Amino acid sequence: MNVNKELCMLCQTCAAVCPSGAIEVTEMDIILTKCTPCGLCARACPMGALYE
Ligand code: SF4
Ligand code: SF4
Repeated sequence: MNVNKELCMLCQTCAAVCPSGAIEVTEMDIILTKCTPCGLCARACPMGALYE
């Protein structure tokens, strides 16, 4: 999973739904080694900022 940092408003919704703890929102990084990728964060993001 990747993040478009121009769209991300750091709301933390994606980190809350990630079952793998793969998202750290302070600088909006996704830890790719932990990402399955299940797609839950992309569906939860209100800004459409997450993409595969
Ligand atoms: S795709 Fe799934 S595992 Fe990967 S960051 Fe998003 S919620 Fe977490
Ligand atoms: S849910 Fe979307 S807008 Fe919110 S922190 Fe995650 S990527 Fe950014």
